[in-house]
Amino acid sequence: MKSTEQSKKWKGKPDATGHFGIFGGRFVPETLINALDQLTAAYRSLKRDRKFQKELAYYLAHYAGRPTPLYEAQNLSRALGRGLRVFLKREDLCHTGAHKINNTIGQGLLARYIGKKRIIAETGAGQHGVAAATTARLFGLSCDVYMGAEDIQRQALNVYKMGLLGARVIPVYSGSKTLKDATNEAIRDWVTNVDTTHYLLGSAVGPHPYPAMVRDFQSVIGRETKMQMRKMTRTLPDIMVACVGGGSNAIGFFHPFLDDRVKLIGVEAAGKGLNTKHHAASLRKGTIGVLHGMKSFVLQDPNGQVQLADSISAGLDYPSVGPEHALLKETGRVRYETATDEEALLGFHLLTLLEGIMPALEPAHAIGYLARRARSFPRASKIALCISGRGDKDLEVVRHSKMNSRSAH
Ligand SMILES: *Cc1c(COP(=O)(O)O)cnc(C)c1O
Repeated sequence: MKSTEQSKKWKGKPDATGHFGIFGGRFVPETLINALDQLTAAYRSLKRDRKFQKELAYYLAHYAGRPTPLYEAQNLSRALGRGLRVFLKREDLCHTGAHKINNTIGQGLLARYIGKKRIIAETGAGQHGVAAATTARLFGLSCDVYMGAEDIQRQALNVYKMGLLGARVIPVYSGSKTLKDATNEAIRDWVTNVDTTHYLLGSAVGPHPYPAMVRDFQSVIGRETKMQMRKMTRTLPDIMVACVGGGSNAIGFFHPFLDDRVKLIGVEAAGKGLNTKHHAASLRKGTIGVLHGMKSFVLQDPNGQVQLADSISAGLDYPSVGPEHALLKETGRVRYETATDEEALLGFHLLTLLEGIMPALEPAHAIGYLARRARSFPRASKIALCISGRGDKDLEVVRHSKMNSRSAH
């Protein structure tokens, strides 16, 4: 672990130009720089605006259902042995079923304060699209969601939900017809309609100020966890574990603990294995590059062509990662590990059978990692793990996988 001296500086990140060390920044067309400057200024002032913060807290409590419980999973803990105590942060109990609503409420409210009547969003599996469309209803905004044509085919239910919520889903036919192409289209739309439109980005990625702003909106997860751990155990956790796609639930969970003596572990999707091309482990296997307006680790070939990410969980299926994670990896403050599709399925069944909690396949990676590595953790460690969302959306995938609950037993 790094000395407190070094990690104390974390509070000031990113720097004034939006850099986390060499990562982050703004790699966007000239026409967006002004919009990003305006957004940065608006966000900076709303961060200190008592009325905005009070309203945000109100919607998080009364609409999204916060604080979410911290639950000591005693059955899982017993099964892992070694006197380990596992505490689950239950983001699966948020309205719309995942942590994403924390960010969409924050940015939706911001859009209202700065007088933007329209939001646009990108979505892969449709989870962020549904959260954005939900928030648009709450705040009376119109909402267009860019989604790859391939993903539209695969995620019919979420497309239907967005329709019910009055959002327009715009199919993207370019490239691989998936999330990264949808993100490019959303950025393009924003360039054209920046006067009327707020781009509601779904993870702690993209050009400054998005990574810092999304982190701040998601940090409510970590702040609550800190208070709840203190109340339940009188101490902080020894170890914290969260899954990493773009990295928003993990950075929100970790951020309030960066200056504490807590071991932090991010779990990326190893898909069919790190030695195949079928994974989404951008921190473990990527190289430094530029994607979606930021410098970070990117899965790319030697010519800089972005590779397709692959994971059983759509939410982790992104070929890059937020710039703050890139720096946390470089400084060694957070350790980044992986879990395969198979380990995620195992994690899903384990939590379902032991605790009666069906996690989304994204946090099931964190459970799968924990199950594999528990033996190497110090005895009696207190482990806080973020269940970023619920499993309903993934049941078709689980049903058609080879692993059933019997083989998990
Ligand atoms: C979208 C999603 C993720 C991945 O996004 P992050 O920005 O890495 O948090 C993880 N879990 C769930 C349940 C999701 O819906």
